[in-house]
Amino acid sequence: MADHHHLILSLLQLCKTLKPLKQLHTHIIKSGLQSDQFITGNLILHCTTTLITNALHYAHSILHYHPNPDAFMYNTLIRGFTDSNNPHNSLTTFINMQRNNINNNIIIRPDSFTFAFVIKAAASLQCFNTGIQLHSLAITHGLNTHLFVSTTLVSLYAECEEIGCARKVFDEMPQPNVVAWNAVITACLRCFDLKGAEILYNRMPVRDMVSKNIMVSGYMKAGDVFRAKKMFFDEMAVKDEVSWSTMVVGFAHNGCFNEAFDLFVKYREVGLRPHEVSLTGILSVCAQAGAFEFGKMLHGYIEKSGFGSIMTINNALLDTYAKCGHVEMARLVFNRMPGRKTIVSWTTMVAGLAMQGYGEEALEIFNQMEGSGIEPDGVTFISVLYACSHAGLVEHGCNYFSMMKTRYNIEPTFEHYGCMVDLYGRGGELEKARDFITQMPVKPNAIIWRTLLGACSIHGNVNLAELALKKLAELDQDDSGDHVLLSNIYAVAGNWKNVASVRKSMNSQRLAKSPGWSMIEVDKVMYSFVAGDERNEVVNEAYTYLKTMMSRLRVEGGYAPEVVGSVLHDIEDEEKENAVVTHSEKLALAFGLSRLCGGKVVRIVKNLRVCKDCHTVMKLVSKIFRVEIVLRDRSRFHSFSDGSCSCRDYW
Ligand code: ZN
Ligand code: ZN
Repeated sequence: MADHHHLILSLLQLCKTLKPLKQLHTHIIKSGLQSDQFITGNLILHCTTTLITNALHYAHSILHYHPNPDAFMYNTLIRGFTDSNNPHNSLTTFINMQRNNINNNIIIRPDSFTFAFVIKAAASLQCFNTGIQLHSLAITHGLNTHLFVSTTLVSLYAECEEIGCARKVFDEMPQPNVVAWNAVITACLRCFDLKGAEILYNRMPVRDMVSKNIMVSGYMKAGDVFRAKKMFFDEMAVKDEVSWSTMVVGFAHNGCFNEAFDLFVKYREVGLRPHEVSLTGILSVCAQAGAFEFGKMLHGYIEKSGFGSIMTINNALLDTYAKCGHVEMARLVFNRMPGRKTIVSWTTMVAGLAMQGYGEEALEIFNQMEGSGIEPDGVTFISVLYACSHAGLVEHGCNYFSMMKTRYNIEPTFEHYGCMVDLYGRGGELEKARDFITQMPVKPNAIIWRTLLGACSIHGNVNLAELALKKLAELDQDDSGDHVLLSNIYAVAGNWKNVASVRKSMNSQRLAKSPGWSMIEVDKVMYSFVAGDERNEVVNEAYTYLKTMMSRLRVEGGYAPEVVGSVLHDIEDEEKENAVVTHSEKLALAFGLSRLCGGKVVRIVKNLRVCKDCHTVMKLVSKIFRVEIVLRDRSRFHSFSDGSCSCRDYW
């Protein structure tokens, strides 16, 4: 019998797909070993630890039909589900474990492993209520102060941003080890309590590399580059791959692209090879900040060091170029991709083209994707619908929306519905947008109503705007931006009395506005501008050149500021300054012009939607100064050249 057990275990190791596994399981049943706990336990373990497709659900059915399952089987399956894409199944398996106790009158007590795994599932789901229930169950079983269980509880409360609960669990631990300490420090940082993290870090008797890396990352995320540097350079005699990449990504995240690149070079000099994950991390920061030059340098490194054959790196590079507004380079990376393009590659390219206003080309790429046999997913369709709405292709958009359900069986989400409202709204078909919203099978959320409100502001529809704002207020989701939009719609319609009342209600509700900023990269350094910024050399330089720039526009381009049109889209804090002349994107543009040599492209990233006046100025500058300007604002790219913009004044 022992030999037979041994044989089955060795055969099990050879099962790399579901088919032989099922054959072996059949053999086990035929040999009368189906109720053997040791064999079944190993079968489930194999299903959950190997990456065999659908093996987890097979493991679930094995357990389900087992006459007397034990705690090991349940724990193994719970852990498998916790680490899967669907941790929810972990919770249901835990419930089945309890239910089994009652139904079969056998006692399978959950142990510390059970609780650690199932609490981890609640943490990934960020489900506070489930977390508390599991916590109290752990108390009933006397396991709440067990090292594994309490460490997972700390992480659970951190995920739910309940720092008080996390700290309390930690304080109750009789002998926390270094992993528990690191977990509670991470919890503080996760909940933006840098001070608390520091105090705990200083109280820790033994710190390992992980503790230091956690602190470096925490300082960087909090924008404290100085403290991060101090810890990294002065307090870490030994550094690992994570330490280096945390610093590089941290620098980039804080806009210190020069330091990021210098450190990246040093990192390679000490003989460490950056990990694929850190390279994609750095690229994604470049993409967010629009750091085109830094991205290009990384591209050079990637080609030289052999990373060019890795698909995830190629996808990240593609995304960087697309988000930096450099569609030529994006196309180049896309066309030269080694091996078979993944769904991420196709979707990124569709999105990149869509954001640049190349709607028809985006749809062409989508058709190629379908032709290549890769099935689009919900994310791909968001980009496709976005492409249609930003290129004014209303009919195409409607066709793709229905194709999504009929051909690919994808249920639309709020994002898809939002795209459709945007599609109709931008196309000026506001009544259709409203009808679409009322016919949605799910209750429209704030994003949907806000999209309609935005469309109303473009087309000056007061009645529908009021409806949208009323719905937003009902959802308790109205913010200052919405009120600003409504007051602008009234202003354009000449209804000044209502403008005043909206403003008054905004003041009484003290709705905060987000300040506008713009970033520009010059000689691989990122500069950011905020209107009403403190004066420093850079800002002075920008203001000085702004005067020259504006007077040339007046003389050579017949420019006159468009104040009413500019308040139409967004009024931000910067507008309280002397109106539209000093918008941050104008400052960034002036600074860029003063610094860039001829023939270059000025690339600006703005956190809000560009106003009409700045848009006009950029068009004129592109003509008079003979430069190309690429502006990424909150919703899309604008490429200005020779007096016109790629958005065709439609954004
Ligand atoms: Zn502006
Ligand atoms: Zn534009």
